Amino acid sequence: MSITANIQLIKSNIPHGVALVAVSKFHGAEKILEAYNSGQRIFGESRMQELSQKQALLPSDIEWHFIGHLQSNKVKTIIPYVHTIHSVDSLKLLREIEKQASVINKKIDCLLEIHIAQEDGKYGFTMEECLQFFASNEFKQLEYANIVGLMGMATNTENEVIIREEFKKLKSLFDDIKSKYFHIDYRFKEISMGMSDDYMIAIEEGSTMIRVGSSIFGYREY
Ligand SMILES: *Cc1c(COP(=O)(O)O)cnc(C)c1O
Repeated sequence: MSITANIQLIKSNIPHGVALVAVSKFHGAEKILEAYNSGQRIFGESRMQELSQKQALLPSDIEWHFIGHLQSNKVKTIIPYVHTIHSVDSLKLLREIEKQASVINKKIDCLLEIHIAQEDGKYGFTMEECLQFFASNEFKQLEYANIVGLMGMATNTENEVIIREEFKKLKSLFDDIKSKYFHIDYRFKEISMGMSDDYMIAIEEGSTMIRVGSSIFGYREY
């Protein structure tokens, strides 16, 4: 199927309130343009260099979302053209985003990445670390790193019970933080969860943003 047909199929499967982030990592600019021409505007990339190269070639009204592990020393480069960072996985990184965004007076939407999978080696805050961060009130002092929600990746397994449990954990953490710290401030509204293989489960469990790559663009050649 074509990229356009893939996007239409996914959009017909998801409710209106759920945003589709088309994950274009490892795919060339011409494929992104095909998706763009079918109306897609939000694209996700996971490597700083790749994002830098592509954004220079592609239409300026694309909303670029960064979804991969980001080193603090790379923040400065992407701040001018990134709209949302889904993968804020440390306080060091969050502070650097605040600093670099303030330099150019631009707000950046940020999601805290929470480690919900059973596997080791995935980045992110534990649930406890995340709660501690909000309890510390540091987030209230952030003016440019605009915390809009949480992101998580489920364990890479065929076992839907495990995947669903992990998404439920993320949703309940989100609800907890929202009720404690954002009950009058509506900016905390995004739960980024769900990829090609599990986005339907993620939506059932409350996802507001799905990050879909291979179901749109096909398999990636690394
Ligand atoms: C690559 C990637 C995706 C997309 O994965 P697919 O299985 O191809 O849909 C989503 N989220 C993150 C963080 C990724 O790195």
